[in-house]
Amino acid sequence: MFTEEQNELVESAAEMLYGLIHVRYILTSKLEKYRNYDFGRCPRVYCCGQSCLPVGQSDIPRSNTVKIYCPKCEDIYYPRSKYQGNNDGAYVGTTFPHLFQMTYLHLKPQKPMQKYIPRVFGFKIHKP
Ligand SMILES: [Zn+2]
Repeated sequence: MFTEEQNELVESAAEMLYGLIHVRYILTSKLEKYRNYDFGRCPRVYCCGQSCLPVGQSDIPRSNTVKIYCPKCEDIYYPRSKYQGNNDGAYVGTTFPHLFQMTYLHLKPQKPMQKYIPRVFGFKIHKP
């Protein structure tokens, strides 16, 4: 027989394990969507259609709609599809894309090599 204290320990360990399995399940199910470009592509030309991940700007409900995060340029954008744009960002949360990247390190794309340079008649613009 276990003591009351031991029972509590087992229970909290079980809860933690459940939480970890749940997180793992969410990440795995999102991996497939990421690979299928289901969350959309980065609109930046030099990101060459990089697959994006959903992100919230805040964890407080009703403060922002969901955005997409590009792992290549490490910036966020408005999603193109109306459906995504109407979702509450707090539902996805601020952590998701970054935890996803920490889990699947091998999927991290290289930073874009090129940067857009504005030109007038072929000349770079001098900034005063
Ligand atoms: Zn990008």
